Amino acid sequence: MKTLTLRKPDDLHLHLRQGDVMGEYARESARSFARGLVMPNTLPPVCDPAGMLKYKKEIEKEAPGFEALMAFKLLPGMDPGIVAEMKKAGALIGKLYPAGATTNAEDGISSYRQIRDVLAAMEEEGMVLSIHGEHPEAPVLEREISYLKELKDIIRDFPKLKIVLEHLSCSESIAFLESCPGHVAGTVTTHHLLYTLDDLMGGALKPHLFCKPVVKREEDRKALVDAVCSGHPRLFYGSDSAPHPRASKEGGSCGAGAFTSPAALPLLAELFEKEGALDRLEDFVSRIGAEFYGLPLNSGTLTLKKENWTVPGEIGGAVPLAAGETLSWRVAES
Ligand SMILES: [Zn+2]
Repeated sequence: MKTLTLRKPDDLHLHLRQGDVMGEYARESARSFARGLVMPNTLPPVCDPAGMLKYKKEIEKEAPGFEALMAFKLLPGMDPGIVAEMKKAGALIGKLYPAGATTNAEDGISSYRQIRDVLAAMEEEGMVLSIHGEHPEAPVLEREISYLKELKDIIRDFPKLKIVLEHLSCSESIAFLESCPGHVAGTVTTHHLLYTLDDLMGGALKPHLFCKPVVKREEDRKALVDAVCSGHPRLFYGSDSAPHPRASKEGGSCGAGAFTSPAALPLLAELFEKEGALDRLEDFVSRIGAEFYGLPLNSGTLTLKKENWTVPGEIGGAVPLAAGETLSWRVAES
């Protein structure tokens, strides 16, 4: 049987939620990833050292062997002194959510000028700024493009600040990244590499594929695939896996977020194989991101087998991406 063994991957953008369901989501990630950069838009948000360390401990207790890399949420009015404290406590990023851009982002930032002194402290401390780059007031398909102006200003005002543009979703963003200095990088998800608006709503509406930023046009998907499969040195993997309870996705008001981690590696292997780029998958999921963050590369491995399996219909009360579909690669149990 054909197999593919990779250095164990990292998921550098992940939502694990809180409470009873968190453990199951964390163990699901641990099957495919050695480390996950856990996003801080919980309720209440992760925004102080004690809360962050408590969350990390809870995650790692639920999923032994999985390393939770931590983030804190940037909030209006934050004291810049918090940056050094968060760094000392092990935070890898400060995350900027424009106010209202996505799930639990109502308390976010309306302009980076609101937190200028915090960003200056991050630049000084060498801490990475991670950005959900969507302008919430722009029309939904233009939100990412509309935010590029703000990004340009941030890069101009903080010329040494390391920045990750999260879950890039359109061709303009890929072109924009080309124009950025080398300390600006981007993450790409599984779903933005695989699906378009037509998959989301061209036929029956697929609530489990609804996320922010929304999947876009075929040209956008193609630009992401071309960039990633050609081995772009500043694009790396972040699943943005974001499970929601099934009832809230299938109810009258569907929250944004796709639960993508269970099928992530098999779907990526299928895509890279189709693109003739299977030899580039390891760089995308296991090397480029770790190097950008200055993390040691993982020493373990993950084996994928060319073997059909069917993605479960539900995990931890949430419906995963590609639920019920038969995929041609599967993660071998270690
Ligand atoms: Zn996210």
